[in-house]
Amino acid sequence: MSKTATPIKKNELVTIQFEDMTHEGNGVGKINGYPIFVPNVIPGEIAKVKAIKVKKNFAIGKLIELEHVSPERVDPPCDVYLQCGGCQLQHMSYQLQLEMKQKQVENALKKIGHIQHVKVEPTIGMEDPWRYRNKVQIPVGEKAGELITGFYRQKSHDIIEGMDRCIITSEVNDRMVEAVRAIASKLGISAYDEQTHRGILRHIMVRTGENTGQTMIVLVTRTNELPHKKKLIEQLTQNFPSITSIMQSVNQERTNVILGRRTKCLWGKEYIYDTIGEIKFAISAKSFYQVNPTQTKALYDKTLAFANLTGGETVIDAYCGIGTISLFLAERAKKVYGVEIVPEAIEDAKQNAKLNGIRNTEFVVGQAEKVMPWWTAQGLKPDVIVVDPPRKGCDEALLQAMLQMKPDRIVYVSCNPSTLARDLQILEDGGYQTQKVQPVDMFPQTAHVETLVKLQRRYP
Ligand code: SAH
Repeated sequence: MSKTATPIKKNELVTIQFEDMTHEGNGVGKINGYPIFVPNVIPGEIAKVKAIKVKKNFAIGKLIELEHVSPERVDPPCDVYLQCGGCQLQHMSYQLQLEMKQKQVENALKKIGHIQHVKVEPTIGMEDPWRYRNKVQIPVGEKAGELITGFYRQKSHDIIEGMDRCIITSEVNDRMVEAVRAIASKLGISAYDEQTHRGILRHIMVRTGENTGQTMIVLVTRTNELPHKKKLIEQLTQNFPSITSIMQSVNQERTNVILGRRTKCLWGKEYIYDTIGEIKFAISAKSFYQVNPTQTKALYDKTLAFANLTGGETVIDAYCGIGTISLFLAERAKKVYGVEIVPEAIEDAKQNAKLNGIRNTEFVVGQAEKVMPWWTAQGLKPDVIVVDPPRKGCDEALLQAMLQMKPDRIVYVSCNPSTLARDLQILEDGGYQTQKVQPVDMFPQTAHVETLVKLQRRYP
């Protein structure tokens, strides 16, 4: 059998025009229908590219020279933009980023979900799309006897050196990472080495409540013991009064998962507070909390609008995390039930309900796809269901459970248009109509897009 020839060979140069963009933010150019994916280009641009990986059905290329430059191209302000890969769209104007995200959602709904009838609203963007992240998790390494921190170079585990700031992270978090690095380095705490599975400090995680200014530092270590911890705590807390919590997460596994199973409180409280709108939240180290506070408010306001509550409704918030959406909705509902798989998050959710004097919520730990059928068996009949699943979307069993529960409306919050589109098709086939689709830019400069969808039951 002869191998089908590809239209381009490895290391070959070719000049192509880019027509489209993938969900990862790569430009797509074609030679006789054979796609080449290239980072750092813009649809409409023409460029000379070099094939660096050639597969049967596609190639990956590297930008060598632009021959036609898009008027939407801007200079990426980050020095390590091309090496890091954490951001994918810094070379585009912000307006174009927002338009590309809207288009990405439109394409997914049409191509994957076969949903043609619905209009996708323009993406809700940020006034200032920089320095928005309230959380950073940064790997620690060693160079010439010093600790270094920096994100990994794309598709590798080499730390980018000289990366002393990340301009999508809040300044306070940048400063905290640097402080922990410098102090730990001086104290002689070693960095974890993936190759040998030796050494101590793996990652530094910092989360700061945007509206309270409270900071939690999480030191992720391979070892149970953290040497010099007293001095480390002393120097951090004396110099940075905004720190209200220092935690240690012990991760003894050879894994890419950042946080370990066990979390210990080294100093202060086990959580920090933040507020979204009128509601106050306690957030612990392991709990999911939206990373962009400004846009979270916009997202939750829209969720509330799509849920269209009048005060008498029973609501389910599936994948509820620390109960953020549940508590936002509770004020306008009769009762809100939340379900979430991480026990610590449910503890936070319960505490958060109390903290805000909210009495009409109930939170359960478990897999949403198992708890929902159980709720049905108990006779629970929701009027509205909100789902906010991780990137892989809703479990099939959860979609079926929703269809059985027959709520009047469903609000789907999604961080992945592809799985959203797949799930919407199932809900449409099950008797729901997609009425509104609203992308929200939770992650400016990156290719990620958050989408909010309102579905209405077609018949009673
Ligand atoms: N709605 C929340 C959290 C959304 S993130 C907020 O806006 O803050 C998705 C959440 O789903 C995470 O907290 C994750 O722990 C949880 N999760 C993942 N798989 C789950 C499952 N099978 N059942 C219930 N929760 C799950």
